[in-house]
Amino acid sequence: MSQAALNRDRTRSANPWRGDFPVFADASLVYLDSAASAQKPAVVLEAMREFAAHSYANIHRGVYRLSEQATAAYEGARGKVRAFLGAASAREIVFTRGATEAVNLVANSFARPRLGPGDEILITHMEHHANIVPWQMVCGQTGATLKVAPVTDTGEVDLDAFAALLGEQTRLAAFAHVSNALGTVNPVQEMTALAHAHGVPVLIDGAQAVPHLPVDVRGIGCDFYVFSGHKLYGPDGIGALYGKAEHLEAMPPWQGGGDMILSVSFDKTLYAEAPQKFEAGTPHITGAVGLGAAIDYLEGIGWDAITAHQQELQAYAAEVLGGIGGLKLVGTAARRAGLFSFVIDGIHPHDVGTFLAAENIAVRSGHHCAQPVMERFGVPATTRASLGLYNTRSDVDALAAALRRMKEFFGA
Ligand code: PMP
Repeated sequence: MSQAALNRDRTRSANPWRGDFPVFADASLVYLDSAASAQKPAVVLEAMREFAAHSYANIHRGVYRLSEQATAAYEGARGKVRAFLGAASAREIVFTRGATEAVNLVANSFARPRLGPGDEILITHMEHHANIVPWQMVCGQTGATLKVAPVTDTGEVDLDAFAALLGEQTRLAAFAHVSNALGTVNPVQEMTALAHAHGVPVLIDGAQAVPHLPVDVRGIGCDFYVFSGHKLYGPDGIGALYGKAEHLEAMPPWQGGGDMILSVSFDKTLYAEAPQKFEAGTPHITGAVGLGAAIDYLEGIGWDAITAHQQELQAYAAEVLGGIGGLKLVGTAARRAGLFSFVIDGIHPHDVGTFLAAENIAVRSGHHCAQPVMERFGVPATTRASLGLYNTRSDVDALAAALRRMKEFFGA
């Protein structure tokens, strides 16, 4: 580790939450990659350990105490996700491995049976691959077409073009709440209303939104909403799909196996109701408990405090990064959340990432699983610094100081 990292000023009294995260026992760590995966607070790790140690068994089937406790914990976590998203009923919440699996579930179970040649799925140019490839796959299987709404030079969805692309043939519109590559917060309520005006159901990819904004699926009016636990200070391998009850009830299961059935014989299998019919096999029970603990942790802090911290730090980072010559932000939308994507004249983003890594500063360099939007902005990759609850002004200062040293080093 460089001397700069070792010497770094670690006074962080201004952040009341940083101490909740054991990873920062490494005082020199500057973690600016929460958009990829957030760090976990001790309460989440402890909730999972405690559950696995003392309340663990398989769920739904056992009549003994441990199984009943485990079932209650798993279903309790579903209730927490329901409240977190503002859904009407816990039956509208399906546990998945994450946002990706949730999109694939909707693509296969909701979209595929409704698609044929001439039909269309509408997405936007700023989507993560998780909200592109599953739609391409079902389009390929059914002869339907994927339509893409353009984004403007500032990185906002061109709403007129989006509206114009909604038509008789559109079977579903799918778009990010917050872009992982640009940080743009999309006007999801307005976009949902535009789609609904054409009778088009909507899926929202909330993977980058849930750590930064309170979400209210009923207020937004969307038909489906997906997110992952690991970006929400919870565990990986768990996430959720919200789907309106009327859709989930009408959709066929997409994976078969145990725990999604009422009865099985070789002649005929009767499926359980939603959400169980979408949760074949033993789910990530401990992960669900951890996700519930992460939601409790965030709600304990409260959205007012979370958004105030995020806005303050984001404004500070914008000012500090704006002062670095040759640094160009990719994505300058008026409403952004949590991240800065940038390029620096004369230095490849991978070299930026490597230089920063040597100073124990964690950022992401690459296409961020959003190659089409990189192409749209004419860059093969960017460096992305993303903010979490635990970040402080001194993290931003450390990033800026390292970028300045790097420019000197490269003579850029
Ligand atoms: N959508 C967006 C906007 C994302 O940022 C990500 C994760 N990078 C995903 C979807 C996919 O999430 P996961 O890999 O957890 O399924």
